[in-house]
Amino acid sequence: MTTLFHLPLPVAPISGQACVFPVGRIFCVGRNYAAHAREMGKDPAREAPFFFMKPACALVPVPDAGTTIAYPSKTADFQHEIELVAAIGSRASRVPKDRALEHVYGYAVGLDMTRRDLQTAARDAGRPWEFGKSFACSAPLGPIQPSEHVGHPASGAIWLEVNGATRQRADLADLIWSVAEAISFLSGYDALEAGDLLYTGTPAGVGPVRPGDRMRGGITGLGEITVQISGENRL
Ligand code: MN
Repeated sequence: MTTLFHLPLPVAPISGQACVFPVGRIFCVGRNYAAHAREMGKDPAREAPFFFMKPACALVPVPDAGTTIAYPSKTADFQHEIELVAAIGSRASRVPKDRALEHVYGYAVGLDMTRRDLQTAARDAGRPWEFGKSFACSAPLGPIQPSEHVGHPASGAIWLEVNGATRQRADLADLIWSVAEAISFLSGYDALEAGDLLYTGTPAGVGPVRPGDRMRGGITGLGEITVQISGENRL
């Protein structure tokens, strides 16, 4: 007996190359900029890093020309979070901080799109964040820039504008937990594998978008992404 499943393989484009980056898991760091932690009502000084995940089907590859995503169902507060994303290129198990970046294939500009009302309700009830964070098409990602070309950016502007107005603007140097620290920490709990992505957290200024809004964001040295919100996805 033969059963064939035609599963879509989530892949992210690699800048300047014909080959693509197959995506496994998507890890996300929570509250990794002090000013964002404060705007979420939390004290940034007291926390060890924490993580949540999105399924690979959250990935939306964003070409240079931009793309469109649907406004998701069951929310009245769909919010943007611009983030530096690290793409893992080799297995990382219990790696010390000073070896962690050896496992990063490259970096990209990403958006951790969030149904904030659902996330906040879940958080306040002590329940998981999945409905708020881990839904399909919630992780737009620009082309991956190989670290052999762009190095390992630890400073530089990270910004997002909506319809031309600046919403988020900070510096990668403001990350509470660096990419190396986050990888080292995570790899102590479970091995990271080639194909995993790490969304490293968003700076202050998160806010809602509505159908018709156009987001444009970037990180110094990694380019820009443009994502427009289309009408509501009523499933
Ligand atoms: Mn985030």
